[in-house]
Amino acid sequence: MKILVTGGAGYIGSITTAELIAAGHQVIVLDNLYQGHAAAVPPEATFVQADLADREAVEQVFEQHPHIDGIMHFASYTLVGESMQEPLRYLRDNLVNAANLLEAAVTNGVRRFILSSTANLFDDPTTMPIEPDDRIVPGSPYGESKFFIERMLHWFDRIYGVKSICLRYFNACGDTPGRGEDHDPETHLIPLVLQVALGQRPHITIFGDDYPTRDGTCVRDYVHVVDLARAHILAMENLDRIGSRKFNLGNGNGYSVKEVIEMARKVTGHPIPHVVGPRRPGDPATLVASSNTIRQELGWQPRYPDLESIMRSAWEWHSSHPHGYKS
Ligand code: UDP
Repeated sequence: MKILVTGGAGYIGSITTAELIAAGHQVIVLDNLYQGHAAAVPPEATFVQADLADREAVEQVFEQHPHIDGIMHFASYTLVGESMQEPLRYLRDNLVNAANLLEAAVTNGVRRFILSSTANLFDDPTTMPIEPDDRIVPGSPYGESKFFIERMLHWFDRIYGVKSICLRYFNACGDTPGRGEDHDPETHLIPLVLQVALGQRPHITIFGDDYPTRDGTCVRDYVHVVDLARAHILAMENLDRIGSRKFNLGNGNGYSVKEVIEMARKVTGHPIPHVVGPRRPGDPATLVASSNTIRQELGWQPRYPDLESIMRSAWEWHSSHPHGYKS
C-alpha cells in the first residue's frame, strides 16, 4: 500500500515507517521537523517537510503523491504536562491540524485513517485493565484533543465513508538499534532513568510515593514502540475487513515507577540514585490496558511483552546514542 505517515520523523512515526517499508509498503513522510529528526526518516521513504497547519501545503502533498491508500497520523503535540500549561496549543492546533489533514484526505479520495490516540482518555477508569469501551474522561487538554479527533473521525465515517482505527496506546517505550527516543526536553521515565545511568543526570525524581499502589508509586503499562508500529500496520491492512474501530494497546502488565528504576539498575548495572518528589499534576495512580479486542480481532501479539526486554532495547539505543540523533 501507499501510506502517508504524518510525524514520520518522530519517535513512533519513524519506527513505524521503517516497519512499513520492511513489510513492503511505500511511505510518504510528512513532518515539520519541529520535534522530529530528519535523520530518523528511513532513506527508502519519500520525505516532505511541511506543516499540517498549512492547508495548501497539505493539499499539495496529495496532489504530488496521487493514489495514497491510507494515512497514519502521528504528528501532534503529545505531552500531558505541557498541555496543562499551554492548553490552546493542544485544543486548537492538534484539532486544526487533524482537520486540515482529513479535509485533504476526503478531497483526494483517501478513505483509510489510523489515529495515534492515547490512554489519557481514561482519567477515571471503572475497570482495570481498561477496556476500549470504558467511559471517556480525558485527563488533560492533550487527551481532550485526541478525543475530539476520535469524534471527528466518527462523523467523517458517517458522512464521507472514511474508515478509521483509533489506537489508544498506553506508555510507548523501547527503541530499535537504529532509531529511538530523542526528545528535547525529555520528560519520559525510561529515557530519563537511562540518562542517569549514562551520567547525564545525578538522579531520577519519583513523582509521588503515596499513591494507592503496591509500593506507593504510579503503575503504568509499558508497550514497545515496535509492537505499536506493528499494530498500526495490522490495523491498516485489515481496515477494509473490520471497519472503523477503537482499540486499547498495552501489554496488560502494570509496572510501578520503582519497578522500572529497579529494572534499569539490573539492565545497566548502574545504581541509579533516586529522590522522591511531589506528585505530578494529572497522573492517575494506575493505568493498565486491556488489549483483548486487538489481540482477538487482528491477532496482535507483543514481541516485547515484559519490561526487561523493553529496557534492554532502550539501553542498547541510549548507550550507543547518548545524545540521540546528534551522537
Ligand atoms: N515519572 C516519574 N519521574 C519522572 C518522569 C515520570 O516518577 O521523572 C512517572 C510519572 O509520574 C508516571 C510514570 O513515571 O507515573 C510514567 O511517566 P511518563 O512521563 O514516562 O509517561 P506518561 O505516563 O506521562 O505517559
